[in-house]
Amino acid sequence: MEKKPFVTNEQLQEIVKQFPTPFHLYDEKGIRENAKAVKEAFSWNKGYKEYFAVKATPNPFLIQILREYGCGCDCSSMTELMLSNAVGVRGEDIMFSSNDTPAEEFRYADELGAVINLDDFTHIDFLEQTIGKIPETISCRYNPGGVYEVSNGIMDNPGDAKYGFTKEQLFEGYKILKEKGAKRFGIHSFLVSNTVTNDYYPALAKTLFELVVEIKEKLGIAMSFINLSGGVGIAYRPDQTPNDIRAIGEGVHKVYDEILVPAGLGDIAIYTEMGRFMMGPYGCLVTKAIHEKHTYKEYIGVDACAANLMRPAMYGAYHHITVMGKEGLPCDHKYDITGSLCENNDKFAIDRMLPKIDMGDLLVIHDTGAHGFAMGYNYNGRLWSSEILLREDGTPQLIRRAQTPKDYFATFDCFDIYKQLQ
Ligand SMILES: *Cc1c(COP(=O)(O)O)cnc(C)c1O
Repeated sequence: MEKKPFVTNEQLQEIVKQFPTPFHLYDEKGIRENAKAVKEAFSWNKGYKEYFAVKATPNPFLIQILREYGCGCDCSSMTELMLSNAVGVRGEDIMFSSNDTPAEEFRYADELGAVINLDDFTHIDFLEQTIGKIPETISCRYNPGGVYEVSNGIMDNPGDAKYGFTKEQLFEGYKILKEKGAKRFGIHSFLVSNTVTNDYYPALAKTLFELVVEIKEKLGIAMSFINLSGGVGIAYRPDQTPNDIRAIGEGVHKVYDEILVPAGLGDIAIYTEMGRFMMGPYGCLVTKAIHEKHTYKEYIGVDACAANLMRPAMYGAYHHITVMGKEGLPCDHKYDITGSLCENNDKFAIDRMLPKIDMGDLLVIHDTGAHGFAMGYNYNGRLWSSEILLREDGTPQLIRRAQTPKDYFATFDCFDIYKQLQ
């Protein structure tokens, strides 16, 4: 499928007059349409709720948009909890799916009334000692181990993942939690990341639904919710077919009717914790070509770097690139597109065929709406970019200013360089 930016060259030329590159730009219209489609796809389930994975795009303006479609927040750290609280997402609208959790974070999650999703069997005691009780509503994260396969082959290797309870621990865990006073139970599992197939959620649902029936039979505990977590992917590459959330929702519905309903468990709520699928395609990194270098290869240097988008450097991830205003031209130049870090992996693309790039051209790096800005760091003293929302009426709104040297030096507040910047 052809990948087109959600912004036109004309719009972008206007936006850069007001806001300097680089910046992450988000598509309000796309975010809204997708959030609505997600809600509709699971509307067959009365208790359905999407808990947006805050870590993917921790921006309060964007979370507030998702709020309008009934989304809660999935958090896993103190500051993510603070952010949820700040936008008014509290109580059971927060799913606290953390791991290796510090005591103060359990304490704060409990204060906010969040649903706590335990990552480990030993956390039962740890939580009880930390907050002095076991909450009435509690969830456990399941890791089936081994390799995880769906119809089209092996997808991932949960046996190597640090997360979750084993099956034996899970049974023992629910028994103990019940004895300690828990009344409403949930189960959670996250087995594969960025799946570009409509089969992942239905396959995971089947695994969990069968387990939930077994738990009911063996322990007499009926789950209140089943959390399919994240992992629904997006088509980063033009040759991939995007997931169809309607088909995914229907796939889960079918196994729900086949497994849970006949077992008398037809009122269990389905939860999801999608990050990438909710935001990924609705953000892009806008950057300008500032250097061309002709050595053993052809390089284009841009004004963004891996500090603004780490995925290509970290995972060799593909992000599609559009040279704005040159969409119709032949891709007859082979380039490495680089940032300025003193690290040779600071490349947004390697050997990418693109139209001839001239200095000053704007490049749109696609699909940075999730795990993009959020993974930013400050290596080489490079600063975070701004984030801008392209509103439905086509106007830009600054939703996070760029970091300044003063922000960067703020943690050395004892040192003269910070005082000189006051
Ligand atoms: C990262 C994460 C998610 C979101 O994953 P996506 O692949 O972005 O959908 C959801 N739940 C937990 C616990 C996570 O760690």
